Formats: sequence, structure tokens, C-alpha cells
Amino acid sequence: LIRFDGVTKRFGANTVLDSLDFTVDPGKHVTLIGPSGSGKTTILRLLMTLTRPDEGTITVDGQYLCHEEKNGGLVPAGEKHVREVRKNIGMVFQQFNLFPNMKVLRNITEAPVHVLGMSQDEADERARGLLDLVGLGDRCDAYPSQLSGGQQQRVAIARALAMRPKVLLLDEVTSALDPELVAGVLDVLRDIAHTTDITMLCVTHEMNFARDISDCVLMFDEGKVIESGHPDKIFTEPENERTRDFLSAVL
Ligand code: ATP
Repeated sequence: LIRFDGVTKRFGANTVLDSLDFTVDPGKHVTLIGPSGSGKTTILRLLMTLTRPDEGTITVDGQYLCHEEKNGGLVPAGEKHVREVRKNIGMVFQQFNLFPNMKVLRNITEAPVHVLGMSQDEADERARGLLDLVGLGDRCDAYPSQLSGGQQQRVAIARALAMRPKVLLLDEVTSALDPELVAGVLDVLRDIAHTTDITMLCVTHEMNFARDISDCVLMFDEGKVIESGHPDKIFTEPENERTRDFLSAVL
């Protein structure tokens, strides 16, 4: 569903991703781990087209994300094309970024109504279902400021799912939360991972969570995947010395 082919991303002289290749198959849950600055967030930002690659191509569901095919060649994609391909992708950020002036239900229905053209009634009904899924069925009429950080993050997850994306990107979604609120958010994500067919690409420092939900873990260092495999293998018998050092520091 996601394919990176020879993707290089530089910020000035800093090569953050170095000719990166990887794929994520439909329905799979892939977790990116690695030291701070190794390029994990940049991968999610590329998928959200918040930044573009210097070299290489990214495809989502068989369509180029940042390029269009024209006259037998590839050219940088226009806004319209990017918007279409990006409809497949939902993202939850570290900071939940809810609309503070809108009640919870409207936070969730806003994009389905205005971007997908869903009727308000249908969007409301779906939003209520999603709020049930994240354990907040009784908070439709609250404003974000009346919720805890963990509850706000669960609304942000419901909001991302409301767009029916094929892929859900999760960028350290618990790292801004007080420790006692982390488990509730991870439980919701575990549930979604185990009960839906959505494809997930996560950046997380929560290694137990990564172990529970991942079909595959990619270990990054200096813009490259230095080791990948099933979490049982990576977490128990890592082959690469830098993976071993990283895991012994964080586990
Ligand atoms: P962390 O775990 O700390 O979030 P990360 O692996 O997600 O780290 P990235 O956020 O992808 O790492 O950053 C990789 C490198 O790219 C870092 O050296 C960072 O300083 C640099 N970088 C990221 N975004 C920009 C930007 N907009 N301008 C300049 N440098 C950037």
C-alpha cells in the first residue's frame, strides 16, 4: 500500500533520509524505531506531503504521491493530484491539534462534511460510532478544553478515522501525555489494530505497544533502515549492534 523507492531527503547539508526503500503491505502494522534524529518523523511528514523528497518516489495505493505521470515521464505532482492521493492517509500527531472552538462531535464531522461531501446526518452518525470506539460516546458535546489530554488524543484518533483512510500514521501519539493517560490511548490503538483492516505506520517510543501491534519493525539509523523484521525477532535477538545498543537504552 505504501512504497518508498530510493527516497532521499536533505535539509541543507544534512541528509536525513538516504536512498530509502521500504514497503508496507495492505492491512499491516509497521513501526519505525530508532534514535532521535534518525528520520522517522520525516517519513510521516513526507507521506502527509508536509515536505517533499529531493530524490526518489513514494506511492500510496499504487499512485505516485509527489509525482504525476505525463508523456511517459514523471513530473512533480500538482496540488489536485496530491490532495486526491492524500485522501487515503490519516494522521495523528503528538499534539492533538483539535479545533478548540468546536465541540467534540463537530471536530470529527468537519472534514467528512466539507472534504468528502458527506451529509451532516451521516457524518454525525459515523462520528458517534467512532466516539464509542474510542470510549468517549458520552462526550459529543464537550469542548476540547474540557477533556484530559488522553481524551483529546482519542478524539484526534476518531477524527482521523472519520475520513476512512486506508493508512493511519501515528507520530509519537502518547509522548505529550501525562504517564497515567498513556495506557488508555494505547489500548484504543491496540483495539483498532486488532479489529480493523486499516494499515498503520507508527513512530513510537512505547516498545511494548510496538511489540503488541506490529507485523514488522523497522530500525532506523542515520536515514537508513539498518534492521527490520517481526517484533519477536527484533526485540529478542537483534542482529545489528546499533539495534542492540538502542534497545538496551530504551527497554
Ligand atoms: P525524534 O525521535 O527525535 O522525533 P526522528 O527520528 O523523528 O527524531 P526527524 O524528526 O525525522 O527525526 O528529524 C531528522 C533530522 O532532520 C534531524 O536532524 C532534524 O534536525 C532534521 N530536520 C527535520 N525537519 C527539519 C526542517 N524542517 N528543517 C531542518 N532540519 C530538519
